[in-house]
Amino acid sequence: MNYPSEAPESARLFERAGVVTPGGVNSPVRAFGAVGGTPRFMVSGKGAYLTDADGREYVDLVSSWGPLLHGHAHPAVIDAVTKAAAHGTSFGAPTVNEVALAEEIVARTAIDQVRLVSSGTEATMSAIRLARGYTGRSTVVKFAGCYHGHVDALLAAAGSGVATFATPETEGVTGAQTHDTVVIDYNDAEAVWELFEQRGDEIACVITEASPGNMGVVPPRDSFNQVLREATLKSGALLISDEVMTGFRVSRSGWWGLEAVDADLFTFGKVMGGGLPAAAFGGRADIMAKLSPGGPVYQAGTLSGNPIATAAGLANLQLATDEVYSRLDAVSTELQGMVSAALFGAGVPHRVQYAGNMFSVFFFDREDDVREVRNYDDSRTQSASKFAAFFQEMLARGVYLPPSGYETWFVSGALDDGAMSRISDALPYAAQAAA
Ligand code: PLP
Repeated sequence: MNYPSEAPESARLFERAGVVTPGGVNSPVRAFGAVGGTPRFMVSGKGAYLTDADGREYVDLVSSWGPLLHGHAHPAVIDAVTKAAAHGTSFGAPTVNEVALAEEIVARTAIDQVRLVSSGTEATMSAIRLARGYTGRSTVVKFAGCYHGHVDALLAAAGSGVATFATPETEGVTGAQTHDTVVIDYNDAEAVWELFEQRGDEIACVITEASPGNMGVVPPRDSFNQVLREATLKSGALLISDEVMTGFRVSRSGWWGLEAVDADLFTFGKVMGGGLPAAAFGGRADIMAKLSPGGPVYQAGTLSGNPIATAAGLANLQLATDEVYSRLDAVSTELQGMVSAALFGAGVPHRVQYAGNMFSVFFFDREDDVREVRNYDDSRTQSASKFAAFFQEMLARGVYLPPSGYETWFVSGALDDGAMSRISDALPYAAQAAA
């Protein structure tokens, strides 16, 4: 298989989209800015495959950025969505599905109570508000390279030292909005202790990706999550473990199932919505009791707990048994081995890093540059041009990868022998293209 690099129907749609939508997309990474070429407009998905507007079929290793644990259009998920939709799309009143989904989440995780929202961004934003309300403190600590959605206060870059406040990372966010945010390096326990020594009594919370996947996959090292737990406990700050990406993806519960470091609040999204907009934040009962109604911290949502989204999420989770996670781990390990073998074969300097079944591949310009990627600075030493060459060749050969070296590759349980052999056939060519 070798598709031409032009994709005329997608190109027409991209042009049409660009007239009415900034950049032609509704989320920036979809525009292929990091890899060039025409973003593919997708018309359908089935199992491990996506079909684009030009009628080309791709093995999908994006899985809608994580949610599609069982592949596209799984019959049980589609059935749940269809049945729920037949009863109405939204009631603005409590429904049984949202109770069932909340029960499923609580049963799988370390939390007492959960509040449903519609996006991961809402989940982290609300968790931070709750942490501030609970502690009566203002300062939020985040890590460079960790992404928690487009919450103003979290679109922040590091200041010049731990004692300074962060600066906005994008126009449209004001200094006031990032004034109470401190950004430090990931996996840097010393910086954490130094910060808590200087400012521990101001800190409302530390928010961290349970195992980061937004600077490529950069797992916590040297018990980093445990360090965060100890530092926050000592100072009376809350620890927020952002499991929007890892939650229900890397184990029945998420990262917590692989490394049981307790946090005070957790955020979830992606898998728990089964491909529809649903997300959540939850934690200890005494903290959650601060939420309205009943508590002083306001939080709400017109479509929160939407009956179709909760039906999809529940079906997705009910399919996600321990056997499914074992198979996803095995498929992911096999795939990592295949990618690495092809890149070694072509002499491409690289490093594969994984966290559960999530992984990413860092390409480097020279063998001397290859190292463990422990933080955002390390991640930024990767070769964008080598990744782009690899990506384009895989795309031409019918394999759809995340269109940026800073993203995670997501496997699904639908990857069968046919899909794996298409990937295996494409890899030597893609590796050669990156050489
Ligand atoms: N937190 C993490 C760890 C994420 O990876 C993301 C999105 O990728 C978010 C939060 C934001 O979620 P959403 O895109 O649903 O707003």
